[in-house]
Amino acid sequence: MSWSGSTVDSSEEREERLAYNEAIFRSLNERIASLEIDFGRNALHDFICECSTPDCFERITLTRVEYELVRNDGTHFLLAHGHEDIEIEQTVTLSKNYIVVAKDGPAGIIALNEDPRA
Ligand SMILES: [Zn+2]
Repeated sequence: MSWSGSTVDSSEEREERLAYNEAIFRSLNERIASLEIDFGRNALHDFICECSTPDCFERITLTRVEYELVRNDGTHFLLAHGHEDIEIEQTVTLSKNYIVVAKDGPAGIIALNEDPRA
């Protein structure tokens, strides 16, 4: 997959780029989850918002159990409230501290391909 050779920012290219941004933060959260594993599954941990904004480092507090539920589906991402982009994702879970969104179309395929647990 490459976007070299084209300066046209089609909506599909934009969607792909945003999907990769989110995949990067998901990998970061996977590392947080693996580091924190010794502290117990019901302890609260700070994860990082997986929205499509590259410079968003918003902290989201949830338990490892809640985090695992998000990670069960390779197209699901963990976001802070208000960080969803309704053009590329749809909300599947609304919680007090966070929301979970699902990707479909080209972004969903990238999300699955980049799934660190696949
Ligand atoms: Zn965010």
